[in-house]
Amino acid sequence: MRTRITESLGIEFPIVQGGMQWVGLAEMASAVSNAGGLGILTGLTQTSPAELVNEIERCRSMTAKPFAVNLTILPTIKPIPYQDYAQAIVDSGVKIVETAGRNPEPFLPLFKSAGIKVIHKCTSIRHALKAEKIGCDMVSVDGFECAGHPGEDDVTNMILLPLAAKRLKIPFLASGGLGDGKGLAAALAMGADGINMGTRFMVTREAPIHEKVKQKMVEATELDTSLIYRTLSNTARVFKNSVAQQVIDIESRPGKTQFEDLQSLVQGAKGRELFDTGDLDKGIWSAGMIVGLIDDIPTCHELISRIVAEAEEIIKRRLIEAVS
Ligand code: NAD
Repeated sequence: MRTRITESLGIEFPIVQGGMQWVGLAEMASAVSNAGGLGILTGLTQTSPAELVNEIERCRSMTAKPFAVNLTILPTIKPIPYQDYAQAIVDSGVKIVETAGRNPEPFLPLFKSAGIKVIHKCTSIRHALKAEKIGCDMVSVDGFECAGHPGEDDVTNMILLPLAAKRLKIPFLASGGLGDGKGLAAALAMGADGINMGTRFMVTREAPIHEKVKQKMVEATELDTSLIYRTLSNTARVFKNSVAQQVIDIESRPGKTQFEDLQSLVQGAKGRELFDTGDLDKGIWSAGMIVGLIDDIPTCHELISRIVAEAEEIIKRRLIEAVS
């Protein structure tokens, strides 16, 4: 397959693995890159910039293909030395960065002077246009279906993607609700140059999380996600478990919710423990509506090959037949 994204990133298929806290380790990113997509290490999963440098080296020893690093700038419990993480990425010679959360403008001079391509993840067209204006090379347009932080506008990809195609000049990825060949073909049809998948890659053999978490997502339906932190304007879509329900119950109480009321339930350290132990009610974990379409645990190679084959079949037969 050839799109502006495959050409620009030097990858075989227009499939990118999104940054995922605690999941984007070298095992995950290298498996996706080796299968012809773009794997992404999650910067903040490494607890210091020095550890990120080691993880980048570890990933390099596992794949000769391009991979990227995600830098997410959102509220955190502990302050993060973002500039040091950005410098570690540059010093390690990584050539692609995915930024997310806040406007990446403060980091662009550093990344651009190092010849790094920047993909900014946006949940609205206004943010995508801003990313284009400040010099990002491409954006990932994240619809309301997505896992993690969908923003506060609640617009789905059926609207966001054609709007992005109409208004943006730079290439863009469709993100949120993608996990099969139908999604890839649809994203290309709506003007995207490729897809970004997070949740679907969590349910692969190489994803470094407990089998019980993967199995739970296989069993889940499209109704098994919850939106938390709505009251804090930091909305996150997570798997619907007892902890997510407790958070929603606290947020539903009269009066203003303080983050401190939720902190002990949602802290990332507990999410990490959940992924390590398979204790499904230890904390919260990000998951998108695509869980409703996931029903197996393939390798990344099997998954990517299957998505590409299905998309090609749809484009070459179903769509051609519709107009012939
Ligand atoms: P953490 O342990 O610092 O915080 C846990 C959660 O609480 C995070 O979702 C965070 O955004 C939220 N939070 C923290 N302080 C807050 C505040 N003052 N007000 C409102 N919400 C607050 O975070 P972590 O689990 O170690 O994750 C590190 C970073 O990665 C966070 O910024 C988190 O948002 C981000 N993340 C992003 C995604 C995604 O889908 N893009 C998924 C998981 C985590």
